[in-house]
Amino acid sequence: MSGAQLAILTVIVLLGTATAGVPLQRYEALLKQQSAPTDDQLGLYDDNDKVVQLSVANFNETVLEQNHGSLVEFYNTYCGHCRRFAPTYKQVAEQLHSWQEVVIVGAIDCAAEENNGICRTYEVMGYPTLRYMGPGFQPSVKNYGQDLKSQDPAEIRSLLAGFLAAENLTSSTNNTYWPNFHHVTENDSTSTIFEGLSSLREFVALVYEPENSTVGIETALFLLQWPALQVRRVSDLAAASKFKIDPTSHQLSIVNRKGDITPYAPAEQTGPSYSEAIRLALGKKNITPRPDKAELQHAAVTAIGEKSEHKAILEEVHRNKHFVYQADLEQAIRTVLHNEVPKVNEIGGERLLALQRFLGVLQRYNPLGHNGNQMLSKLKDYVVQFNQELTGKQFEQELQRLESQLGPIYSSTHFVGCTGSSPKLRGFSCSLWTLFHFMTVQAAENEESLDPLEVLQAMHGYIKNFFGCTECADHFQAMASRRKIWSVPNKEEAVLWLWAAHNEVNQRLAGDDTEDPQFPKIQFPSEKSCSQCYRTPGSTSDQMEINWNKDAVLSFLKNINNPQFVSRYGVQREDLLHATAEKMRQKRQISSVFSDMDMRMGMLLYAFCIVMMVVAFKLFAFKGYRKKPYGHDLLGKV
Ligand SMILES: Cc1cc2nc3c(=O)[nH]c(=O)nc-3n(C[C@H](O)[C@H](O)[C@H](O)COP(=O)(O)OP(=O)(O)OC[C@H]3O[C@@H](n4cnc5c(N)ncnc54)[C@H](O)[C@@H]3O)c2cc1C
Repeated sequence: MSGAQLAILTVIVLLGTATAGVPLQRYEALLKQQSAPTDDQLGLYDDNDKVVQLSVANFNETVLEQNHGSLVEFYNTYCGHCRRFAPTYKQVAEQLHSWQEVVIVGAIDCAAEENNGICRTYEVMGYPTLRYMGPGFQPSVKNYGQDLKSQDPAEIRSLLAGFLAAENLTSSTNNTYWPNFHHVTENDSTSTIFEGLSSLREFVALVYEPENSTVGIETALFLLQWPALQVRRVSDLAAASKFKIDPTSHQLSIVNRKGDITPYAPAEQTGPSYSEAIRLALGKKNITPRPDKAELQHAAVTAIGEKSEHKAILEEVHRNKHFVYQADLEQAIRTVLHNEVPKVNEIGGERLLALQRFLGVLQRYNPLGHNGNQMLSKLKDYVVQFNQELTGKQFEQELQRLESQLGPIYSSTHFVGCTGSSPKLRGFSCSLWTLFHFMTVQAAENEESLDPLEVLQAMHGYIKNFFGCTECADHFQAMASRRKIWSVPNKEEAVLWLWAAHNEVNQRLAGDDTEDPQFPKIQFPSEKSCSQCYRTPGSTSDQMEINWNKDAVLSFLKNINNPQFVSRYGVQREDLLHATAEKMRQKRQISSVFSDMDMRMGMLLYAFCIVMMVVAFKLFAFKGYRKKPYGHDLLGKV
């Protein structure tokens, strides 16, 4: 045994296991200080955006039975498509901010557990989903708002304008801002168009709106903040010409109370361009809009814990890029059970079967401790007894009942390996991959079931029926049949099938907007993590050019997913995890540094130290006793 090893061993032995755990405890303390991420931390929008952040706390009072309409995006923070769409939606909200008196642009994060009830009620299964809810809206069976099936800003604007005009409301309908969307007809004149208007309205702008266009509606909405102006739509050619409008050259005109008509030619045939032309014309007459209404209240966004704590986690993950972390596995399970499944209103037929299968493999191959295993086992038994239909609400209630009955289940509250450089990146979808890789490996190492497809089938069913990233689910299903998922011959091939499929997704998403710049999508594992996995050293990251050594890849995957090697960094309640695994882990940590001989020597030294301490103590005590006859007590007695 070397001198250095002896010194380290002595320190460990003398200070005992408590001291050996210090680095872990320091990390735990760091994480304990960090408050659990609140749901708003997950969201894709913040106070800098014009998107009204909706949640269970404000949804009803903002959207239901209002005198304005609402455009609501139901999204999932972790869905790549939602992330890619977020900048577009911010742009939509920015542009339609001036419509806010008539329609607000909001978004609700269905990945936030607290919003489960709302996302379930509105039967949202694809993300992102855009719905329009009009003034006075109340959800009812078969009426959860009208879908806007577009992700193009101009088209969204136009669809929304169409819905608003179809409300057939007037400004008298307790919203004084509501524009008059009725068309001007041939019977109207320069005086009738001012009838019933307040004297503040000095001008009426007439906008030519061809069939199937919403340019007039949009112009009216863009100019809500101009009290001196009323915008009206004209579609009839005879009426248009009466007001000096030529659909080919001058598509709009402004009429004043004296009856003067001035035609204008906007640069483009769009709402923004028409309203800009009118704004310029009014500006020249020194007419101004009303000051911008106070900003709509945005929900407070709590900043992600202390930057230094986030940094500590990222540093840990950068040091150990291929580690599998207990915390991520738990977060995946928690999100699946608390968020994804309860969000589904009715779980019947294929969906119910998929859930039963998923819970079956989760119960067999989960990484949780005793409480977690109990909970999963009972939850599975509960779900299996249904053969017709179960509701998301019933599932949620049973889950809550079991969790409160069985005590704490999860040892951690944060992602670790799946932590993104920003809270909007990585997270749940990363942890879901991690969980499925983990389960394919557990199945391959376990004799409990001989079915080679059990985990892949459960995963396929889960992704198809519950995964909140609709786009991902579609891609995955297409890939699964292309890669012949149902022909996988054995459990080890199942591990490799998932590995290769995941690498295909990595390749497709490399350089995508959803990629975390600090965690670029690579062909996994990197050569640095597993050089034996590469038959040809120095291959590029393009999988097509990598000559994989699949045996080495398989043992690498088995290794990193071995429960003994799963990292417990960031775990706060280690006592909830399997004690045996923990003991083995500690033993492994020590035995990887010291040989058996070293260990025996260490134990001898330990025993020797204790004997020496006892002897020293006795000598000291004895010496102290002999001194006593020469001392004096407080009264001076000998
Ligand atoms: C089934 C499924 C399908 C998806 N489809 C899409 C999609 O179509 N479009 C889209 O935008 N997003 C999709 N996603 C999300 C996307 O794949 C990533 O999860 C997300 O972009 C986060 O990426 P990440 O960098 O955190 O790493 P992830 O790709 O999520 O990987 C998580 C961790 O797994 C490990 N890993 C990486 N590759 C492998 C591998 N080949 N084998 C074993 N372990 C590996 C790494 O340690 C990595 O950190 C899908 C997710 C899932 C679960």
